[in-house]
Amino acid sequence: NADTALYRAKDAGRNRVYYFNYEMKEQFEKELLLEQGLQKALEKNELMLHFQPQFDLHSGKTTRIEALIRWNHPEWGMVSPDEFIPVAEKAGRIREIGYWVIDKALESIKGLSKEYPDLERVAINVSALQLRDKEFTRNVKKLLDKYRLSPGKLEMEVTESVFMDRVEESIKILTELKTLGVEIALDDFGTGFSSLSYLRVLPLHRVKIDRVFVSQIETDQKMLSLVGSIIEMAHGLGFETVAEGVETAAQLKLLSESNIDTVQGYYYSRPLAIGVLREFLSNEKTVK
Ligand code: C2E
Ligand code: MG
Ligand code: MG
Ligand code: MG
Repeated sequence: NADTALYRAKDAGRNRVYYFNYEMKEQFEKELLLEQGLQKALEKNELMLHFQPQFDLHSGKTTRIEALIRWNHPEWGMVSPDEFIPVAEKAGRIREIGYWVIDKALESIKGLSKEYPDLERVAINVSALQLRDKEFTRNVKKLLDKYRLSPGKLEMEVTESVFMDRVEESIKILTELKTLGVEIALDDFGTGFSSLSYLRVLPLHRVKIDRVFVSQIETDQKMLSLVGSIIEMAHGLGFETVAEGVETAAQLKLLSESNIDTVQGYYYSRPLAIGVLREFLSNEKTVK
């Protein structure tokens, strides 16, 4: 278990730093260990991508996959991206990791889209800090060229946090990417950003409705109604809609009745290592 390993490992470094708050010290030391581990993770090949299929309700096929980063630490086991991505951001390592993710995702979609022509593109998660890089679009273009892929093979998921500060700068870079032909999705929609009017000016292709909403539509009539309205509003603005965290047949049915375009979640498939993803896509091909 990751926590016990971390606590064990940090016994060695006790009493080095004094903090007035015990919880804070725990958190700080944990982050320090993660940060030090991350320095080696890339060199030692401990990072990898898993891919979660997105099911398109119009074609009845997997048309996209989302790349989700995994860190398999030799002692701690799997470390969640929710835990180490914020550490990488603070430590200034997110750009390097981000480019690694794009490279690996493109390498994977290159092979996969030849084998599975229904697969349109791979989506990656992009942190707000990556968009602060003036060379971002140019470097993305370089990586697309490296694999001789059209930009439409790549989608970027950004969260509402991207638009919290430096809105103009973020919109500019996303517009560059969109002009290049990369698709843009707004991830975790509904959880952060408050001003709906911004949706009009964002260069998006689709919005992904957060799992928190999806998890409540079966039991909460108002939530179902809210989700229905979000879908209608997104369509009205010209965006496609994706529901994330779909775990049950009942949720799928309700979302389908609300005109959702695409679903993603454990009900359809968990994030898969690339070998297992190939099996999954092969099965889908023979069924259809
Ligand atoms: P996200 O982009 O919103 O990804 C969805 C998360 O929900 C993933 O967690 C996925 O495994 C999980 N999930 C998918 N379907 C279901 C479901 O039906 N039920 C439940 N309970 N969970 C489901 P994961 O892989 O742990 O990633 C967590 C977050 O870490 C991601 O949220 C994303 O914000 C971030 N992340 C992952 N990979 C990257 C990356 O390469 N770069 C950056 N910057 N962030 C990443
Ligand atoms: Mg995502
Ligand atoms: Mg999400
Ligand atoms: Mg998320």
